[in-house]
Amino acid sequence: MCTRIRPEDIPAPVIELCQTLARNGHRGWVVGGCLRDLLRGQPAADWDLATDARPERVAKIFPRVIPTGIQHGTVTVRHRGEGYEVTTLRGEGAYSDGRRPDHVEYVSDIREDLSRRDFTINAIAYDPVADALEDPFEGLRDLEARTIRAVGEPARRFSEDGLRVLRAARFAATLEFELDPATEAAIAPTLPTFQRVSAERVREEWLKAFKARAPSRAFEVMRRTGILAATYAELAELDDVRFAQALKAVDLAPRDPIVRLAALLYPLRQEAGLDDWLQRYRYANAERERVARLLRWAAPEASFEHAAEVRRFARQVGRPWLAEIAAFGIVVSEAFLGSTVQAERLAGQLRELVTQDTPLTTRELALDGRTLMSELALKPGPILGVLLDHLLELVLEDPARNTRESLLERARAEYDARRLSMDTAKE
Ligand code: ATP
Ligand code: MG
Repeated sequence: MCTRIRPEDIPAPVIELCQTLARNGHRGWVVGGCLRDLLRGQPAADWDLATDARPERVAKIFPRVIPTGIQHGTVTVRHRGEGYEVTTLRGEGAYSDGRRPDHVEYVSDIREDLSRRDFTINAIAYDPVADALEDPFEGLRDLEARTIRAVGEPARRFSEDGLRVLRAARFAATLEFELDPATEAAIAPTLPTFQRVSAERVREEWLKAFKARAPSRAFEVMRRTGILAATYAELAELDDVRFAQALKAVDLAPRDPIVRLAALLYPLRQEAGLDDWLQRYRYANAERERVARLLRWAAPEASFEHAAEVRRFARQVGRPWLAEIAAFGIVVSEAFLGSTVQAERLAGQLRELVTQDTPLTTRELALDGRTLMSELALKPGPILGVLLDHLLELVLEDPARNTRESLLERARAEYDARRLSMDTAKE
């Protein structure tokens, strides 16, 4: 870790913004997550700036400014093809709802601005023009020790904004840091404030946690502090063995947030309330369907002896999802059964099937509905679908039957048999 930041560590466009502020009698600091990540030697995603200039002043100083969050003092400055969030220094402000400060109060002291930030590692600022680092809460020491520590008195800070406890758990995973004991101890007593946090904000933190190398670190913190019980009681109440298996599945799953969510929820797949929970936490229809599909078809214990069984399974799952289901099956087998033998075998069978272009839907048959209608002189109606389903069944049983002639012959026979049985029924 580098504890000494130099101006050359900061990208040129960011320095230019700070220089422009300086030429206009103001100061600009690199602050928050980007500075933290830079100090950790990690690539910083987006560069956020703090300034002692008021938002109206920032808007006058720079030619291209978008008032993205002007009510909170934030504007986006466009510079050399990128957008930079520039936020005016803010003081504490009172929190009466546990969500947002009641009003925004601008200040001129960077240290006052840093004091309202959540964790010491997020409360460091650097002015590249003056080459001055501000670290009033010993965030550098905590970065070095890989510790998440609240700025100031943890219980008070967590009661101001209920999201902070969840951010602490999330950072435990994304940074692979530990919570300072006093900070962790303040979580349980402040959970009533966490309970008022909106579902959207909770969802965003979960999605960020799923991007970590090992999201389990966040969910372990959440479970032992009571955050998880406040968000999803049934998940928090799993016994220790099941919960550990679910966490193993999350870490093994690919870094796709929805696949990881499905892995976490795997032990609850039979629970009636699962989809309601997904809806409450604002998962989109496509995401809910994807979770349901993964949980329904993961089939870690499925073992198919006959190729026809594999084809029927594949037909039910649907061709576009086969690769994802097969991979997910291996993950849950490893985590919950401790063996991937069956799942690897099924994955191999499904891979083979995909390369063979065996029809899995009636539309993929060698005989289309239009030809079938004209050859058998059928009128449009349900019989057409019945015949095509019958043909698909026959082809799934034996793909060699998938030729136009063979299917036509079998469709004719089936049609005649059905007509005959209808005639007998009428008599
Ligand atoms: P990342 O972007 O990697 O998720 P970050 O620390 O940059 O992490 P942001 O949500 O982008 O997180 O916030 C930027 C900065 O704003 C933080 O570093 C922190 O200083 C401050 N901050 C964000 N959310 C809060 C909060 N709920 N309470 C207090 N300060 C906060
Ligand atoms: Mg950020």
